[in-house]
Amino acid sequence: MTKRVAVAGFLHETNTFAPSPATFAHFEEGGGHIPLSRGSEVLSRSKGVNIGVAGAAGFAEAAGWELVPLLWAVAIPSAHVEKDAFEQILGDLIERLKAAGPLDGLYIDLHGAMVCEHLNDGEGEILARLRAALGPDVPIAASLDLHGNTTRKMVEASDVMVAYRTYPHVDMAETGYRTAVQLEALMSRGKPFKKAFRQLPFLIPIPWQCTDIEPAKSLYADLAELEAGKVFSASFLMGFPAADFADCCPSVLVYADDEATAAAAADGFVSAVLEKEADFNGEAHEPDACVALAQTLSRSAEKPVVIADTQDNPGAGGDSNTAGILRALVKADAQKAAIGLMVDPQAAQKAHDAGEGADVTLTLGGKSGVAGDEPFTATFTVEKLSDGEFTATGPFFGASHMSLGLSACLKIGGVRVVFASRKVQLADQSMYRFVGIEPTEQAILVNKSSVHFRADFTPIAETILVCKSPGPMALLASDLPFENLKDGIRMSPCGPAFRAPVPLAAG
Ligand SMILES: [Zn+2]
Repeated sequence: MTKRVAVAGFLHETNTFAPSPATFAHFEEGGGHIPLSRGSEVLSRSKGVNIGVAGAAGFAEAAGWELVPLLWAVAIPSAHVEKDAFEQILGDLIERLKAAGPLDGLYIDLHGAMVCEHLNDGEGEILARLRAALGPDVPIAASLDLHGNTTRKMVEASDVMVAYRTYPHVDMAETGYRTAVQLEALMSRGKPFKKAFRQLPFLIPIPWQCTDIEPAKSLYADLAELEAGKVFSASFLMGFPAADFADCCPSVLVYADDEATAAAAADGFVSAVLEKEADFNGEAHEPDACVALAQTLSRSAEKPVVIADTQDNPGAGGDSNTAGILRALVKADAQKAAIGLMVDPQAAQKAHDAGEGADVTLTLGGKSGVAGDEPFTATFTVEKLSDGEFTATGPFFGASHMSLGLSACLKIGGVRVVFASRKVQLADQSMYRFVGIEPTEQAILVNKSSVHFRADFTPIAETILVCKSPGPMALLASDLPFENLKDGIRMSPCGPAFRAPVPLAAG
């Protein structure tokens, strides 16, 4: 008999320390993926895009499921999801679910690190309300980002959750497919899987979560191997270490036919991660030192030295507008250097008003509210203007269409800056080329990104340096004013333990 399966998505990665919240308008826009979609739009717009729901739909087609698309929404990572946006989107989703008629299963594309103004565990609440609407017998399968901070509420309200295995996330659609495979198994067997859920006792800085480098590379290979045995599904989520609540930490999820198998696999994998804890550390440089090192390295390099401006990564809640590394590049008189994206609609407008060839004086940065993010004032020459419309070419964005709004290339000394009006993470070479900068011909490239850029830039980079310039996504959790983490969790690999602030005694 044909299986009827509802499909949906509601995703946000929340940096509770970031400057700007996620509003309903941000979900309508879609933040670099597809805009807020309802009913059949969910399938038509996601076709061929690297997101979970597209992979799930691919499996559904092959398996002959009848799909009932409900709603799909994402916003660019930022501070908390506003209460109105959360309730409006989830309310719409639940109404559509209730109107869907009899269902054999539900697939939902989630992130796992959504924090709302009015509740800490966004996905736990989404899954609990879906469960309440569907009843206990219809299986719920969810895809998760490997940055999800998994909670017990999420585990209990769902039947299976499957996370990405790559960062840069080149397997988002593939994860949707793998999740749909598990949902098919659940619907066919007619009884739930046994689950094992473990949380790890240390936070991992995001640049060292990259799965192209060790120790994550081997750990994910081991994880995949677990599924060759009796385990149905195994996931390792490295977590998003900028969410101030008790479940902010890496986690492991294992599903099997019996409890003992799931527990043994989860415990074995946790031990393997703990053995490699010290390896989740890398080197990060202060801006002046980083630029000096890049200049030295570039003298004998054949390819660009690429610097990750990790703390202003808009994929982790930054606004992509701090000027720390730009200031260091100008001060060091760097040549053949380029930096992107500087997201500043006023500066882009000013460049367009002045025209190509004109000089403009701009004050950049100083807007994040982060200590050390000082404004930088200087005169630039407008080299090239653009409407910001182009198509990405690299593996992370795929062939996504970019709409960056009014954009420009401005030059100061030997440094070129890509200005844009809309916030998107610099993770594609085309994000330089659209304003006339050939990235492969630069000596130094500065990308406002932590890891996703590696998918398109590792092949053209001499080496990659990580820079600790002031921005909202602190490299080390100990640099953030956490108050609500689990007592005793290590703030970095083998680092100091978090101690909950002791409230001042009354009187
Ligand atoms: Zn992620």
